[in-house]
Amino acid sequence: PKPCEVTPAIIMKSYACQRRTPLKHHNSFLTEPLEILAENAEFSENEGRSLAFRRSAAVLKALPRAVRAMDELKDLPCLGEHSLRVIKEILEDGASSEVESTRQSEQFQAMKALTGVFGVGVRTADRWFREGLRSPLDLIHTGQKLNHAQQAGVQHYNDLNTPVTKKEATVISDIVERAVKAVLPGAIIILTGGFRRGKEVGHDVDFLITHPEEGAEERLMPKIVNWLDEQGLLLYQKTTRNSYLESKEGPARPPSNMDRFERCFSIFKLEQTKVNSDTQVEASSYNSSTTDRTEEYHSGSTWRAVRVDLVVSPYSQFAFATLGWTGSKLFERELRRWAGQEKGMSLSSHALYDSKQQRYLQANSEEEIFTHLGLEYIPPSERNA
Ligand code: ATP
Ligand code: MN
Ligand code: MN
Repeated sequence: PKPCEVTPAIIMKSYACQRRTPLKHHNSFLTEPLEILAENAEFSENEGRSLAFRRSAAVLKALPRAVRAMDELKDLPCLGEHSLRVIKEILEDGASSEVESTRQSEQFQAMKALTGVFGVGVRTADRWFREGLRSPLDLIHTGQKLNHAQQAGVQHYNDLNTPVTKKEATVISDIVERAVKAVLPGAIIILTGGFRRGKEVGHDVDFLITHPEEGAEERLMPKIVNWLDEQGLLLYQKTTRNSYLESKEGPARPPSNMDRFERCFSIFKLEQTKVNSDTQVEASSYNSSTTDRTEEYHSGSTWRAVRVDLVVSPYSQFAFATLGWTGSKLFERELRRWAGQEKGMSLSSHALYDSKQQRYLQANSEEEIFTHLGLEYIPPSERNA
């Protein structure tokens, strides 16, 4: 740039739901380290600290260019003292000593490995860490008592920690569509989560299912699950009734019919036919590491485990469910915080309650929800906070 050129001021709103955050941005060299610190704070159950780092990272993701100097940050919201210190160190030295020592620490690495097991949360991982366990293999060697989810998690550890591609998500979409259409014609299925935001890979594939006739979606999940199971497509599934009514979310608590909101956390058995293309060979090579799979591999067919989340919502809540399950997690948090702190409203994946008017606000689309909240509409691809 010419020496006299003035960098135009960037107006950055303070809630992530007021901003556009694209998937691809210019500051990964800063956001990735900040998110390491956020993750580490989550491992020690320090919610506030984790949120502070995530909010800082989200602001940098929304910038139109890479940060080069500290003075470019002076008018930006959400950047706390600690985050600024980390950013300064990276800009000056190329790395932050705190981040690098966190990355290298035995505790961080063990917590990452242990919480990387499906069905294992921070509490359990921390207990195991204090008992001296460091990896999923240690769980087997020491004969830890595992629940069904965790057993499946250990068994399919490598597959479940291999990112799911867009291509695999499409194959699974076709399967889910077939299953749902078979048990409830006329049902509507949408891809939610990261793939709806345009991500190329994900840790799972998320679906939301409804039917235009309110009530037709009742008891749908067990039927879908049975269909999938009969086809031999499920390695694991846990169907849960909506626990929303028991939650402490307060006024957004929907009318009593909403206990029909069901979800299923599952692991799909995804067939992979061996083709002479590089990607297919690559995709099946990690599966051939275990003996039984080597056989399948040589017989010309192999499979991998993929995490799939299914959610069924009544039609009247579909817009709220869509918004709530599209993410990102931070974007969702910020939407709820905005609703509460700025609008006196309470937002959930089921409903929007206006405390001043003392009534629920209906919506048939995500756009209408943004309008109720007094927010500019942000499309899914710009919700990558
Ligand atoms: P990834 O690629 O890692 O899967 P993602 O954004 O799809 O990224 P998910 O963990 O699959 O992440 O979550 C997708 C969305 O579903 C998020 O918006 C999250 O808020 C919502 N969600 C996830 N788990 C729950 C849950 N137990 N209850 C309600 N909403 C949830
Ligand atoms: Mn997901
Ligand atoms: Mn999910």
